[in-house]
Amino acid sequence: MTSDSFQPIQGMSDLAVPEIHLWQRLEDTARDLLSRYAFREVRTPILERTDVFERSLGDTTDVVRKEMYSFEDRGGRNLTLRPEGTAGVIRYVAGQGQDAQEARLYYIGPMFRSERPQAGRRRQFHQLGVEAIGAPCPAADAEAIALQAHLLGAWGLDEFRMEVNTRGLPEDRARVADGLRDALKTKRAELCEDCHRRYEENPLRILDCKKTECRDVVAGLPPVTSFMSVEARDYLRDVLQILKRLEIPVTENPRLVRGLDYYVHTVWEVTHVGLGAQDALSGGGRYALTLGNKTVEGVGFAMGLERVIAALTGQGMDPKSLAERPDVWLVSQGASAFDENLVLMQTLRMRGVSCGMDLQGRSMKAQMRAANRADSRYVIIRGEHEMEEGTFQLKNMEDGVQEELDMPDLIQRLTPATDIAWPDSEEKK
Ligand code: AMP
Repeated sequence: MTSDSFQPIQGMSDLAVPEIHLWQRLEDTARDLLSRYAFREVRTPILERTDVFERSLGDTTDVVRKEMYSFEDRGGRNLTLRPEGTAGVIRYVAGQGQDAQEARLYYIGPMFRSERPQAGRRRQFHQLGVEAIGAPCPAADAEAIALQAHLLGAWGLDEFRMEVNTRGLPEDRARVADGLRDALKTKRAELCEDCHRRYEENPLRILDCKKTECRDVVAGLPPVTSFMSVEARDYLRDVLQILKRLEIPVTENPRLVRGLDYYVHTVWEVTHVGLGAQDALSGGGRYALTLGNKTVEGVGFAMGLERVIAALTGQGMDPKSLAERPDVWLVSQGASAFDENLVLMQTLRMRGVSCGMDLQGRSMKAQMRAANRADSRYVIIRGEHEMEEGTFQLKNMEDGVQEELDMPDLIQRLTPATDIAWPDSEEKK
């Protein structure tokens, strides 16, 4: 086997120590906050029928056009590794009948896109997404944006920027497309090759093009809202007003387009200054998604967790500082002390104390080295003398103080380090 055999496939990563500490911290904080906003988790399969994505995402989007990992399984079914989370959640909600029509759901998990891997673009990446189904009104959109800002703040992110715009109503689409074609008519020659195609198929996507030549042309265009109905403009105004009352700072960006075709009304994007070219942390919006004979309306967002982590580490957050230290490391001299310590370790763990010991019966010196490596708060040492006396040497690794204690005192001393109610509460059960 070459060393390459031990690498995950290109664009995908193993998530392990030390970064995993940060992943877990993000997930714990998010679950806590999402439940405060009355959202419940849903875990949909990673694999879906391809048409779940084709029909919901719109087949002119880049995700569907070139980025899906699709294949035919042995039964001849066309399947796709999910490139995003909304379509699966909507499939789930649409199958739930009336009750789920006002669901508040979130998901955390891997997504797959066969993009060209580069900084900030992975083929497997992770998203945390939120979908508030039903309640099609400006207050629901503002609430989702407020939740997103709250979450980013709770994670410790600063210097993120939230930009908001509208896609208008479905009826506005044709007017916007015609308005843009008209405004772009004389500039077509200056657009990139992809945008030539977009001019015919979906000119709104030209606003999203990252090429300099197209950006220059786009800068001279009137805002898309100028082609839209009064209803669409009023809706956006209401969302922005509520956000102002909730003191959530957002910027209106009349050129913001989200890549997927299912959006109506509010769309938004969050960027972070520290991320370089791929600076989007998250995108969201209101959507109406039709699957089979059902249309599900909702508002939601999806955040790229790799990018949140990159932004946090860029801000100086060290994942190693989040590693949990064991409370206790047990050290034994002699076979009977080792044997008793095994039992004590199990008892302590059952009582909520995190602890460890060398299991191979190595020398005292090696055991103390292991204790230092584990960075435990306390070390319990038991040798011949302690076995005879029924005592324990408890060393506080922070101040170096060592005391000889009997079992009741030992237990009492360890309690404050663990925040648990020591044996009493167990007995009362
Ligand atoms: P999207 O579903 O394309 O709106 O993406 C939502 C968020 O997911 C983006 O703002 C990024 O933070 C993240 N994201 C999307 N594609 C990738 C990718 N290939 N690699 C890493 N993160 C991604």
